[in-house]
Amino acid sequence: MKKVIIVGAGLAGSYIATQLPADYDITIITKKTRIDSNSMLAQGGIAAALDEGDSPKVHEEDTLKAGKYHNDEQAVKQLVTIGPQLIDDLIAQGMKFDRESDGQLSFGLEGAHRFRRILHAQGDQTGHALTEFVQSTIRNDIKWEENTTVLDLVVEKGECQGVVIRNRKGAIKTKYADFTILASGGLGHLYPLTTNDQTITGDGIALAFRNNIKLKDMAYVQFHPTLLTKNDKCYGLITEAIRGAGAILIDENGNKIMEDTPQKDLAPRDVVTRKLKAWQQKGHRLFLDISKIQSFKQKFPGVSRNLANHQIDFERTKKIPIQPGAHFFMGGIKTDLDAQTSLKRLYAVGEVACNGVHGANRLASNSLLDCLVSSNRAAEAIAKTPTAENKNNDYTVDSPSNSDIKSKLPSKDVLLEKTWKQIGVVRSKTDLNNFLNWLDKFNYKELNPKQLSSKDLTIANLCICAELIAKSALAQPKSLGANYIKGV
Ligand SMILES: Cc1cc2nc3c(=O)[nH]c(=O)nc-3n(C[C@H](O)[C@H](O)[C@H](O)COP(=O)(O)OP(=O)(O)OC[C@H]3O[C@@H](n4cnc5c(N)ncnc54)[C@H](O)[C@@H]3O)c2cc1C
Repeated sequence: MKKVIIVGAGLAGSYIATQLPADYDITIITKKTRIDSNSMLAQGGIAAALDEGDSPKVHEEDTLKAGKYHNDEQAVKQLVTIGPQLIDDLIAQGMKFDRESDGQLSFGLEGAHRFRRILHAQGDQTGHALTEFVQSTIRNDIKWEENTTVLDLVVEKGECQGVVIRNRKGAIKTKYADFTILASGGLGHLYPLTTNDQTITGDGIALAFRNNIKLKDMAYVQFHPTLLTKNDKCYGLITEAIRGAGAILIDENGNKIMEDTPQKDLAPRDVVTRKLKAWQQKGHRLFLDISKIQSFKQKFPGVSRNLANHQIDFERTKKIPIQPGAHFFMGGIKTDLDAQTSLKRLYAVGEVACNGVHGANRLASNSLLDCLVSSNRAAEAIAKTPTAENKNNDYTVDSPSNSDIKSKLPSKDVLLEKTWKQIGVVRSKTDLNNFLNWLDKFNYKELNPKQLSSKDLTIANLCICAELIAKSALAQPKSLGANYIKGV
């Protein structure tokens, strides 16, 4: 029987569990519980060319344009053609996307899409509804290991043979499998303000780096202009759909920030984000003015609930306090169209992977679709690949010996302050070089994950991601998409 380990319980990890043949021995390992993921937080929707008049070809063109033509064209073709079929399958299984009063699917429009092709579920709670639905279809005999962190990969005889974990009791174990699938998401918590779930700390990227697995497009981090912020802490995303419905960005004096920019408040995310950052640097505070939106609470129930939960008096003031912050990672572990990484028997799906589909900037609502498509392709490829030879089926318990290397790591607060300033929204060659020189004082690359506390492991993983982003940004010949370098 083929044995498979899936790392991560977001949409990509959950969906691949439903795509693998029924007789496989599957374990899903996830850091916290099955509801802790970015997938559960996705608000905007999932893009698919399913409406009359729309076509995969136009979706492909929109995706390439948003990605500044840095995308892998074959990966984009695969996304836009297989994606709609997988959505049809989910609907046939009972997934309920929002519909118009006549029963037809309701398609929303988002920035840079030329057609209405964004499907929603439960209004602005699409990610939650979709991931929960997919999880409800996972077979009962699939094993879940929650509150368990994958620390490293087991690499033997030039192939991936499983993972090293720290389980809920703190025990470190080696788990063997024929196939390992990384679905561990992006790296939002490399920055002080982020929309991402607490568990998203670049672990998959760091363990790929430690095992010399190829990475791609590390420079490209997407920042979102509108994070709900209070006392400089982020309390979730304020979806772009709110600007689509008529909200405008203003400062504390009511000045319209985007007034002089082409496309104004609906300019591309990176353009809006840079403008907001410049405004902040002049000492202003930032708000979304929602006074033009009728029936706000009905139209945006999830956002309204979140605002109320955080005591934001939006109904009276008609203003939402926002700041830009980290949102999505276009780069990641390099894969082919079947989600195969450069290490045999290791696959990467969803946001941790880089199959080239997003290019230098992601088109809104394409990432949930990529979770489905990359997982579907990986499942088919795995089904065609024979089991590993001489695989060790037993779990072995390692007792981590004390390290002779004393860890020298920055504090997380200092690291995040620097990432925001030096490898954030606006970069410069000087800042990138200064950042790398500063990182050089620490020994995060020499440390053994098994010998680190969870806190230190997170810092070490974030340092690895930060180094890779800075180096990749410096290596780009010119600014492109989300990698904006002053003067280049
Ligand atoms: C607020 C928000 C709104 C968004 N809105 C949209 C949208 O409208 N449309 C869209 O297409 N995209 C949207 N995105 C992006 C999209 O949600 C993500 O790209 C996508 O859900 C990623 O899915 P994933 O399964 O790859 O990773 P995630 O859903 O992030 O799941 C990763 C999983 O891996 C686990 N994990 C991480 N490290 C480890 C470890 N070391 N050991 C074990 N487990 C680990 C995590 O706990 C988690 O369970 C949004 C993102 C955010 C944050």
